[in-house]
Amino acid sequence: MRSTRLATNAGGVLPAFCVPLCVSLLSAASSPLFAQAKPQANATAKATPIESAMDKLAAHPTVAAAFKALKSDNAWTLDQQASICQIPAPPFKEQARAAEYARRFRELGVQNVRIDKEGNVIGEIRGVRPGPTLLLAGHLDTVFPEGTDVRVKREGTKLTAPGIGDDCRGLAVVLTVARQVITQKIPFSGKLIVVGNVGEEGPGNLRGTRAIFAGPMRDSITMFISVDGTGFGVTNGGVGSNRYRVHYKGPGGHSYGAFGMPNPMHAMGRAIAKIADLEASATPKVTFNVGIVSGGTSVNSIPFEAIMEVDLRSETAAALAEIDARLQKALRQAVVDEKARWPKSTAALSVVIDTIGLRPAGSTPDSALIVRASLAAARTMNVYAPLTISSTDANVPMNLKIPAVTLDGGGVGRGAHSLDESYDDREDGYKGPQWVLLVVMGLLGAK
Ligand SMILES: [Zn+2]
Repeated sequence: MRSTRLATNAGGVLPAFCVPLCVSLLSAASSPLFAQAKPQANATAKATPIESAMDKLAAHPTVAAAFKALKSDNAWTLDQQASICQIPAPPFKEQARAAEYARRFRELGVQNVRIDKEGNVIGEIRGVRPGPTLLLAGHLDTVFPEGTDVRVKREGTKLTAPGIGDDCRGLAVVLTVARQVITQKIPFSGKLIVVGNVGEEGPGNLRGTRAIFAGPMRDSITMFISVDGTGFGVTNGGVGSNRYRVHYKGPGGHSYGAFGMPNPMHAMGRAIAKIADLEASATPKVTFNVGIVSGGTSVNSIPFEAIMEVDLRSETAAALAEIDARLQKALRQAVVDEKARWPKSTAALSVVIDTIGLRPAGSTPDSALIVRASLAAARTMNVYAPLTISSTDANVPMNLKIPAVTLDGGGVGRGAHSLDESYDDREDGYKGPQWVLLVVMGLLGAK
């Protein structure tokens, strides 16, 4: 599902005045010195200031207590993961899971818990002093249709069920992090907004996150973290996609008797040949794919309709728009060419293009504080966190230039989007929530 690139292990330089006993990474970020800091290509073993700040934060009594509890009470986190997973949440049918997720937020003491018009569960944890607003989300929806058996099977540290990793793991991590932030009274600045959002998977088209960033909260959210997936990756590149279902239509007729009229299937063949010949750049990566073709009634009929589904992707919005423009031209030119093949025919031939998916592209630079804090926290945790590019809820804020990443939730996942999906907590699954908590509290200037 993901294309991975090497981590830069971005370290960079914090201004000296911010280093002593100061873990308020955000105030460091507003310094022009910080903004100009470049990741160090050859990071030495010596900790950078941002890494030292993370080390100090991990040793803060409230954070250390949270770490200890996340480890000793790891069974609580896994119980959340398994029990949420057993509430079906097909695309556009996340209501039951949302209601239960909201109930659990309230039970933990999360404030102002509500379900918005789109179906997102939203709650707040307020800090002890003014500061930034960070939104921490997991997604409620799965790819599985109604009627799927979502009972969780446990064998040792391994849980097996559709959706157990993607994204019941993320939902459990958000819950367990919120629980520790509240119970340990970690003294952070600003506001932590915790969310279980709808519509991340394919057909949902990021509708939950879109609704959040189209609503009144948009201007107050300064950072966004989605917990999605397993392991320790940091997704800071958001692949955008445009998806279309394309219909070529004509009157159709007998393959012998009506011969000599434009054939919608032949027009689609011309279109596919043009798509196959599109030039696509490698950097930024641009891809195109005709994934499904259908239509026709019999071998001896000129079809009245031919249908195909096309997927375009890129890491940048500009490159995606550019290949999209060439696709649209090719789809229409195929009609012109097929009509020109049969100049004497008066039979109609048309193309109808339905949009079936639009995901905005975007990225958060490797040098951004949210990325560097995520990598520095991983170093403190002694885990390797690669930077990756993927299509997640973070695409939406990235596209709006709001600092955003998607963090994995720890553990080892297998078979996402398949019926035998599994999540193995092994001996150190608790490090996932510990990592997310450290990143979030570092960004919210806990001290
Ligand atoms: Zn997911």
